[in-house]
Amino acid sequence: MRESDFFDEKDVRKPTSLTCPFCGLTFQYAVRWRQRLKKRYLPGSASSEDRRRFSKAQSYLVRIDDMVGCQNGRCRRRFEIASFQTVVFLSESEPVPDGNRKQPSRTPARRNRNRNHRRR
Ligand SMILES: [Zn+2]
Repeated sequence: MRESDFFDEKDVRKPTSLTCPFCGLTFQYAVRWRQRLKKRYLPGSASSEDRRRFSKAQSYLVRIDDMVGCQNGRCRRRFEIASFQTVVFLSESEPVPDGNRKQPSRTPARRNRNRNHRRR
C-alpha cells in the first residue's frame, strides 16, 4: 500500500497573516494546504507491514502555496511564505474542520518524515 492509502486527502485554505517584505504591510491570505487525515481503518487486504506503518502514521497538513501576491494595490509583488512551516502534524483528537479558527497543534517535524511528503 502507498502512504496515500492511509489518508483521506483534501485541499483546504487557512487564513494566515503574512507581511510583505517589499512594502511591509500585513494582510490575511488564504493559504492553500493539502490536508491528509488518517483513516480510521485500513482495508482488510493490508499486510502486517502496512499495519505497522499505519499505526505510526499521523494526520498532517502540507503547505501547497509557496508564494502569495501582495494585496496592497500599490505593491502587488509576489513574495515567498518563508517564515511559515510547510508541514503541520495534527493530533488525532484535534481534526481541523473547514472554517475552524483553532490552530492545529504544532508538533515539529522530526527525523526524516519529510522524505514521504514530496509532491507526486
Ligand atoms: Zn507588498
